[in-house]
Amino acid sequence: MVENPIDIFINEHLSESLKKSEEVFKFTRDFQRSFPIESIKNMTLEDYLYVPYDEYNPSMSFCSRIWRDGEIMSHRGNARTNSFGIYTINNQIKIYGKYLAPYDDDVDAAFDYLKSEIFKLLKEVDNDNYIAVERCPINRAFSYKLLEIYFPEKILHVHTENTLNDYCKCVGLEYDPKQELIYRNLALVNWKESVPEIRNWDNHVLMSFCDWLWRHNLKIDGGALSRNTQKVAMDIDNQINEIISEGIEKEAIVKVRVNQAVFRDLLIKKYDRCCLCGVSNRKLLVASHMKPWSVCKPEEKLDVNNGLLMCPNHDKLFDQGYISFDDDGKIIISKRLSQVDCVYMNVNDGMKIDVNDSNREYLRYHRNNIFE
Ligand SMILES: [Zn+2]
Repeated sequence: MVENPIDIFINEHLSESLKKSEEVFKFTRDFQRSFPIESIKNMTLEDYLYVPYDEYNPSMSFCSRIWRDGEIMSHRGNARTNSFGIYTINNQIKIYGKYLAPYDDDVDAAFDYLKSEIFKLLKEVDNDNYIAVERCPINRAFSYKLLEIYFPEKILHVHTENTLNDYCKCVGLEYDPKQELIYRNLALVNWKESVPEIRNWDNHVLMSFCDWLWRHNLKIDGGALSRNTQKVAMDIDNQINEIISEGIEKEAIVKVRVNQAVFRDLLIKKYDRCCLCGVSNRKLLVASHMKPWSVCKPEEKLDVNNGLLMCPNHDKLFDQGYISFDDDGKIIISKRLSQVDCVYMNVNDGMKIDVNDSNREYLRYHRNNIFE
């Protein structure tokens, strides 16, 4: 059987890619903190202008930071921030770009216009209004670079047309070449969210994956993909049905089998340690289902969003409904658990896990049906 490219990538490249995405997200967070969208309208030209790199006195300006630190994001579709609209050359300020032509002689007016367009673009995309991207007069490389930095969780940091087209082809996405690039970009992210095995990947990992597919001339077969996850789930079901028909014992066996499968690996990659405490010894970490296997639809059985990684104690408590979590991820502790038990089992009211929308749905099931 030919191995699914997703499995190969998960086994061979995911951890490396996750490390890189940590650096990427650190940069984007730091940058947004230095230049919040709201502050852009008040930025001075000095705050903005690219300054040639000086290792002893590196510039912290908007364009310099993008140029220097933004390199971490990718080299694809390189956007040269040293010529983003307004820049200096031989100590002279130059205005660059057709859209700034009306302000050719007036740097302040040109800069005001540039800032207002940057602000408008970021504000609109923040509100998921992507028509603004089509309408934005700022050159594509520049505007996409900004979107990648301000919205790394919404879009993929790829902004050259050929690359995006190649990535769409690799994952079997059809696209309209006449449509603005942003929609192809969003379609790739949507595609990721539709595939249970990779739904939790951040967009940087998705980009590395697409790039890897493209470099190795691999393609994803969409039908095979969902058949694959469902088949793994079915195999486990079949193996279990041979042993036992139903009941608590069945869930216990499911637990063992699921923990041997890719589900646990994905959870380890996602959480790295017990969701509630610091236990990080991989041999001790257990994949817990929020909605139990036996009541899951086929596509829910190995959905990472349906799982939590826990140490044996916390797994037991969660599995047996002694603890659950609310929509904010705050722990709910059962009255069946005494104060003393809480101390010895290491649970307290202050505990919290990170949850996304898909988690919330599964947790709702857990609260209503498992938690007592
Ligand atoms: Zn724990």
